[in-house]
Amino acid sequence: MKNNLCLVYKKLFSFFGPQAWWPGETAFEVIVGAILTQGTNWQNVQKAIDNLKSQGVLEAKKLYALPEKKLAALIRPCGYYNIKARRLRNFLSFFIKGYGGNIRRLIQREEGTLRGELLSVKGIGPETADSILLYALNKPVFVVDAYTKRLLLRHRLIKEDATYGQVQDLFMDNLKKDVRLFNEYHALIVKVGKDFCRKNKPRCSICPLK
Ligand code: SF4
Repeated sequence: MKNNLCLVYKKLFSFFGPQAWWPGETAFEVIVGAILTQGTNWQNVQKAIDNLKSQGVLEAKKLYALPEKKLAALIRPCGYYNIKARRLRNFLSFFIKGYGGNIRRLIQREEGTLRGELLSVKGIGPETADSILLYALNKPVFVVDAYTKRLLLRHRLIKEDATYGQVQDLFMDNLKKDVRLFNEYHALIVKVGKDFCRKNKPRCSICPLK
């Protein structure tokens, strides 16, 4: 398994090159993006984030001070905006009450403990929690998503019913616990998933992993 995962990474990296993920000027912006991106594409998330920036509210306490309806209106471009406004406020409540809205305090928290805390915030699931840990806080945690599962399944590296935790363990048990590697690997999987390993009609004949 270790060899398979290393080979996949090498092929993807040599084909696509570095992906420079995750887009965001600050760790807080990355967290907001991770919560807003659920079920939509990044262009729509970017529009929502641009709205928050143009209103000067892309800071934890300012965002939390907004009425929920106003917040929902600002993030409307990213879809499911009422649900996402509630989720964002749930996270902000946790972040401000538990950590004073201070990213450095969040970073100092031990990763397993923090992961458990994030998962206890209503609306934050494993993929979002792990995206926050890896991309915003530089913790060595592998992010699993639908692209990851599809690719591994099609290459018969997992079973159909593999859980999030089982897929994550596959990477974390077989690769060096390295933030840069996990960051790049996940981004490359997303890239090959979008360009080649599509849900319908995968483009295997021209894929770098053929
Ligand atoms: S498109 Fe085909 S070759 Fe490429 S990753 Fe998917 S299943 Fe593998």
